[in-house]
Amino acid sequence: MTRPRILVVGAGFAGVECVRRLERVLAPAEADIAMVTPNAYQLYLPLLPQVASGVLTPQSIAVSLRRSRRHRTRIVPGGAIGVDTAAKVCVIRKITGEVTEQAYDHLVLAPGSVTRTFDIPGLTEHARGMKTLAEAAHLRDHVIAQLDLADASEDEAERAARLRFVVVGGGYAGTETAACLQRLTHHAVKRYPRLDPRQITWHLLDLAPALMPELGDSLGRTAQDILRRRGIQVSLGVSIAKAGPEEVTLTDGRVLPTRTLIWTAGVTASPLVATLEAETDHGRLVVTPEMTVPGAPGVFALGDAAAVPDLAKGGGGAICPPTAQHALRQGRAAADNLIAALRHRPMRPYVHKDLGLVVDLGGADAVSKPMGIPLRGLPAQAVARGYHWSALRTNVAKTRVMTNWLLNALAGDDFVRTGFQSAKPPTMREFEHTDSYLTPEQVRAHTAALRARG
Ligand SMILES: Cc1cc2nc3c(=O)[nH]c(=O)nc-3n(C[C@H](O)[C@H](O)[C@H](O)COP(=O)(O)OP(=O)(O)OC[C@H]3O[C@@H](n4cnc5c(N)ncnc54)[C@H](O)[C@@H]3O)c2cc1C
Repeated sequence: MTRPRILVVGAGFAGVECVRRLERVLAPAEADIAMVTPNAYQLYLPLLPQVASGVLTPQSIAVSLRRSRRHRTRIVPGGAIGVDTAAKVCVIRKITGEVTEQAYDHLVLAPGSVTRTFDIPGLTEHARGMKTLAEAAHLRDHVIAQLDLADASEDEAERAARLRFVVVGGGYAGTETAACLQRLTHHAVKRYPRLDPRQITWHLLDLAPALMPELGDSLGRTAQDILRRRGIQVSLGVSIAKAGPEEVTLTDGRVLPTRTLIWTAGVTASPLVATLEAETDHGRLVVTPEMTVPGAPGVFALGDAAAVPDLAKGGGGAICPPTAQHALRQGRAAADNLIAALRHRPMRPYVHKDLGLVVDLGGADAVSKPMGIPLRGLPAQAVARGYHWSALRTNVAKTRVMTNWLLNALAGDDFVRTGFQSAKPPTMREFEHTDSYLTPEQVRAHTAALRARG
């Protein structure tokens, strides 16, 4: 008898946790497990701002998928570009560009999310995101390059523009990015005797009336006070109206000359979701509490890509927020449900009560709310770092991160611009490959022959 074919799309928090559980519980004879992923690592996204600011090296948060010989999942190096749930086929573009079809019996969709952009003129051409390892490494080089170029310029206006940095998005990703990068420029400028540190300005903007509302009023205000004390200008109720190569226009009419616009104003589900032609909720695939996709036999969806009902909030239509905390646990729960389906046992609904939020603002600055307990300063920082450290999957990754933290605390940063960035930086679309997906019609054209064979 042939083994059931399980295909997992995406090696993030949800996908990796799912395959590790499947490998552990299922005997090799019970199923063939394959995972489609463009990269050979699981990216620990919450520590990305620390890569951009140079506290951590990029390798330290890229956790290997091939660390152990016990990991028997077959890795397909590429990206899923379409799914035909009627034919039970996933269309894959390998990293060579070759397009292949992979039939499955059970599909686990965990491709995560991409940066959410709006119809703002110039945004996708001129803004930089904070969603991939390459983006974080590029951004670090770009910020240091602005100091180098400002230092070399005799033109006051150019200097001021290069030393102005604009971050849009007051959620945890944007706030941490602004805080960590401001710390980078604050320390780096000491190595540039010709630059006046007072000329460096950081702006953090958000349309909402408060930063990180999930922290509550008091902690949100603490975070804002920390940022303001460090000279970051926080503007709430404001966003970008227009972006250009040398300036951004804000919705309140201000025009800020700058060469750096960082866009972290939310995420939206991977474009792969749209290829299924299934029901969505705010772009995320609608799933049952067991994480199965209605009308698509054998398909599970989870993590940032899926609208998993948040039963811990007592139903009422709430869906789980797009966080690593949920994605990881959904990976485990989806694996258990898939195993239950293979063994003809009942599935269980996903329930997890949110553990809270940790926000690392660099150095000793942090705010956290673990289990609803508000913390500030060093205790918050200890909780934030302890939480992330313990969540890293392998001991090697833990050691790398801890060593980097110690080294950075003791020896600081050398602010080296590596020069790996190309003269013309990739756009957010290119970094996140959002243009590579097929339309549902193109997917069906690819799978027509397979469907005809039944
Ligand atoms: C800067 C930043 C800070 C954050 N901080 C926190 C935090 O402190 N706490 C928290 O809980 N959450 C945090 N998050 C959110 C958290 O990282 C996400 O919610 C989580 O990563 C979602 O997990 P996932 O498995 O759904 O997706 P991901 O972890 O993003 O994984 C998706 C994977 O799928 C791959 N992929 C994408 N498209 C395809 C495709 N077509 N085919 C195959 N593979 C594909 C990607 O390469 C990736 O490996 C942060 C996010 C960012 C960006």
